[in-house]
Amino acid sequence: MKTLKCDLCDHQAQGETFEDWMNALKPHYMQAHPEIMNNPSKTKKDMEIWISENKERFDAI
Ligand SMILES: [Zn+2]
Repeated sequence: MKTLKCDLCDHQAQGETFEDWMNALKPHYMQAHPEIMNNPSKTKKDMEIWISENKERFDAI
């Protein structure tokens, strides 16, 4: 089980895999960073970049 901070604040989420970690982070993201979740200017490409950056952080620990 890995613990990795949210990329925007100090909230910590845990997951066995990166996918688990993303699922654990999602409710926090919707509550604490809804402007990111609901930003219509965010594209699928932005999401892919977010995933690859955070997967790198996850794999590094
Ligand atoms: Zn956060």
